[in-house]
Amino acid sequence: MRDNMTVNKPKIINKTPKLTRFNNGGKRAKTTKIIWHYTGKAGVKAIDTINNWFNEITKGYIQNGKYLYASSHYLADLDGSLYSYIPENYIAYTSNSANSYSIGVECATTGKDDHYTEEEYKSMVELGAWLAYKYGLDPRKDFLRHTDIVGKAYKICPRYFVEHPTEWKKFKQDCYDYMHKDKNTPTAKTQYLRVLQEVNVHDKPNFNKDSICGKAEKGEALTIVKKIERTGTDMYLVKAGYYITASTKYVEVFER
Ligand SMILES: [Zn+2]
Repeated sequence: MRDNMTVNKPKIINKTPKLTRFNNGGKRAKTTKIIWHYTGKAGVKAIDTINNWFNEITKGYIQNGKYLYASSHYLADLDGSLYSYIPENYIAYTSNSANSYSIGVECATTGKDDHYTEEEYKSMVELGAWLAYKYGLDPRKDFLRHTDIVGKAYKICPRYFVEHPTEWKKFKQDCYDYMHKDKNTPTAKTQYLRVLQEVNVHDKPNFNKDSICGKAEKGEALTIVKKIERTGTDMYLVKAGYYITASTKYVEVFER
């Protein structure tokens, strides 16, 4: 761990609405927790949650004869976009009894299990690490799930992290690691490779027959962890945990 750690602010698109009594509870002075949520609508983009849900609530939205009070400080979208909604120094109506001392992040999800896309997860880590850095927090103990505040009987939120506690633990650790990673790479973009034609993959960084552990299909996109410089053809270690040729005959690299 380095003493002069810095975490750059990720790109955040400002969507701050008019502040009304329906979307905030006034000024807020301390931040000791970051609280994670899911939007509860698999496949719906966070930007649509802002436009079609939060912005309606902001104007005064009546459901079952009562006004709804709901909002969030930040939202993460399926394509990796991050949005700011309620300013950090105002109370957002997102985490019940923890609203006054926390920042809330709503994350869009996809699939039957309400998981996150790879792009979104990366942005969630960047946002989490930056917020933790800004407020002097440790993601491993200062990040909470909404359910940690309200209990399972009240609400399962965010569903994927409540139902997959090891993924939740990994997320907190990924945020922590991002904060403390080498200063030379904090803004490095994630590199991906696209498989141009079917090719063997290996469980060791060599092309020997006995290291073959499967095949990558044409068109597949894989996240590059690192490049392995070899005396012959270089290889990539990919996030899935195996090695693949770096030959441009078989793979092309792109970043985003
Ligand atoms: Zn929630």
